[in-house]
Amino acid sequence: VDPVKENYVRKVKNCIFSIAVPTPLKSRVRLVAVSKEVLEDILDLDLSVSETDDFIQLVSGEKIVSGSIPLAHRYGGHQFGIWAGQLGDGRAHLLGTYMNRQGEKWELQLKGSGKTPYSRNGDGRAVLRSSVREFLCSEAMHSLRIPTSRVASLVVSDDEVWRDQFYNGNIVKERGAVVLRVAKSWFRIGSLEILAHYGELDLLRTLLDFIIREHFPSVEVAEPNRYVDFFSVVVSETAQLIALWMSVGFAHGVCNTDNFSLLSITIDYGPFGFMEAYNPDFVPNTSDDEGRYKIGNQANIGIFNLNKLLQALNPILDPRQRQLAAQILEGYPVLYYTRFRELFKAKLGLLGETKGDDDLIAFLLHLMEKTAADFTMTFRQLSEITQSQLQELNIPQQFWALNMISKHKLFPAWVSQYLLRLKSNMNDSDSERRKRMTTVNPRYVLRNWMAESAVRKAERNDFSEKRNSLGVCGWFSQLSI
Ligand code: AMP
Ligand code: MG
Ligand code: MG
Repeated sequence: VDPVKENYVRKVKNCIFSIAVPTPLKSRVRLVAVSKEVLEDILDLDLSVSETDDFIQLVSGEKIVSGSIPLAHRYGGHQFGIWAGQLGDGRAHLLGTYMNRQGEKWELQLKGSGKTPYSRNGDGRAVLRSSVREFLCSEAMHSLRIPTSRVASLVVSDDEVWRDQFYNGNIVKERGAVVLRVAKSWFRIGSLEILAHYGELDLLRTLLDFIIREHFPSVEVAEPNRYVDFFSVVVSETAQLIALWMSVGFAHGVCNTDNFSLLSITIDYGPFGFMEAYNPDFVPNTSDDEGRYKIGNQANIGIFNLNKLLQALNPILDPRQRQLAAQILEGYPVLYYTRFRELFKAKLGLLGETKGDDDLIAFLLHLMEKTAADFTMTFRQLSEITQSQLQELNIPQQFWALNMISKHKLFPAWVSQYLLRLKSNMNDSDSERRKRMTTVNPRYVLRNWMAESAVRKAERNDFSEKRNSLGVCGWFSQLSI
């Protein structure tokens, strides 16, 4: 195959990947940021390698590692609830799989590296602004111990890329950037949906068997019920991921089925946002008018997306297996709430289990909502304040979020319920409680202003801070202090 000739934009049938070579940027390319952790711990590279021209050529798509056949993945998906047909990697190239010293396999992907057969009306490019946001957020999520794709590097050129700003209708000129991202796998729910939709059932089985063999060690490859077993794992891991998002106030922004990983890692960072004042209606995506993907709806969207996954599996399941899979999906709310409860109990330092735990959590969230208290800092400050300070409702000034929530007339009632509940913690002390709580309640999440400040610096060509992955990223390493 001549990969260049095969590169034109079109509908593609009967395949999982198309060969597609990156299109190099035209103007001078400069390194904006690298993640030391990804380079050293995942890719076995010395940080100093990132200073070389070779590195910049490789991570910008100008040069391809010998032996690599770059690919664009064919997938479909439901966007905002509606079947969107063929989507695919329209601006991303899979460079290959790297096995590191620990024997882990990581898939390397460039984003912003030019058109592929799946580019539709797009230009195949990514801009500096969204690339900086993706870099920071994936590293922040990793620091928060939430499964996520990672970013190894970010380069920028002076190539002009034009983007619509939907909120004001302006068309602005931005600069083309390329990120090198890594994940254990980039397969999505939409990877399977497109094969089922077009009746390509042999390919559907082939892809599923590959994914199960590579990534689902708990599923027996030779088991006749393996697709149901696979589905069961995806259901519980998706519930787990969304509960984790909720525990740090993360709203993904575009929870379409093509952006939901089959390995239940967070992928495809776009108009995401971390909630500040607690608000279940928080919508980070300005173009999501109906608030379909508001933070409080993410758990429900999980069911919608898993149901689309089930529909994609149905053609290769027998009637009994279909029924079994449907029952598994019915178990999703329990899986989700069990995990949610565990996470929020830990956020409050509660040990063991009592009947009133759900109410205690819901009561606090209600007070936060009514007083617009900051979600992250309320939990953080509850981890820092002592029980005796709480008991006396003596809240020092520096605990600004607690001061806000304490304005509510029911706050003293919540505090007394909370203190009573803490008494039922077996073998606990207040310092132990605070120590536990500070390890699960972050001081830093990637607030929008932090991302914006990094974007502005990058736009001014001030790469100094992120270059050595300090700056905003460095803050996250202090999480459990
Ligand atoms: P997203 O909203 O980022 O999940 O993207 C949805 C689809 O649009 C995917 O198939 C992307 O590859 C494609 N896409 C987004 N932006 C571009 C672009 N600038 N050029 C080509 N394809 C794009
Ligand atoms: Mg996407
Ligand atoms: Mg995207």
